[in-house]
Amino acid sequence: MKKVALITGSSRGIGAAAARALAGEGYAVCINYLEQKEKAEALVKELREMGSTAIAWQADVSDSLAVREMVAHAKKELGSITLLVNNAGVAGQIQFQDITPEAWARMFAVNLGGCFHTTQAVLPDMLHAHEGCIINVSSIWGQHGASCEVAYSCTKHAIIGLTRSLAAELAPTGIRVNCVAPGVIDTDMVQVLGQDTLTQLAQEIPLGRLGRPEEIAQTIVHLASATYTTGQVFAVDGGFIL
Ligand code: NAP
Repeated sequence: MKKVALITGSSRGIGAAAARALAGEGYAVCINYLEQKEKAEALVKELREMGSTAIAWQADVSDSLAVREMVAHAKKELGSITLLVNNAGVAGQIQFQDITPEAWARMFAVNLGGCFHTTQAVLPDMLHAHEGCIINVSSIWGQHGASCEVAYSCTKHAIIGLTRSLAAELAPTGIRVNCVAPGVIDTDMVQVLGQDTLTQLAQEIPLGRLGRPEEIAQTIVHLASATYTTGQVFAVDGGFIL
């Protein structure tokens, strides 16, 4: 069966690293982005030069119709999606009492709603094939509380609930659902914290440094081929929380 991966939020950061790693494993990949078209197209060019098959598609994962169009386009260009990596996400540091209802709703719409829309869109073909793999990207803040990141932490906890419940529901169909929970990974997302905070955080991490996007991609590649693993959450955090 042809291996086809859709990686949401893969124009940069962890998603881009996952797309590179999966292309290296022989997957045809659909790169998804929200705004950074040039980065997505540069990645497609890079992967094609490596001999891989890749396309890019703009879609806001919070928009179910846009997601369905993306999945239909990917199917037409690459074939049915056999691996879905729900990676697109947004974060934000703010005290709980200052979160507006709109910001709360947007965080849930992207981080959790995105997983819902993409998964519903790819499932019919996976159910038909009696196989498929879904990997959700949560966070260590989906396993532990995070001061000033309550909305983000709630969405990431929910992604773990989604992973476990959907894994139980889909296991009889042959479809596996797993989750990666990254620690502090050196991407654009954490740059808002500032260099001083990042240096301090690195000192608090037992392995003594931030993680690299490629190190999350390693676990995504592992889970893609871990045929007897479902419903699991893998922390990849340098031992940050033990
Ligand atoms: P990042 O560098 O900020 O990249 C975010 C990616 O998501 C970009 O490709 C962005 O597209 C895309 N995106 C954002 N909103 C989107 C939307 N509504 N629809 C479609 N795509 C959207 O983030 P990252 O650090 O790689 O994080 C990736 C995932 O890992 C997220 O779910 C994040 O919560 C999780 N995570 C990250 C860390 C960390 O320390 N970095 C830790 C734990 C968990 P554009 O480029 O077009 O804007």
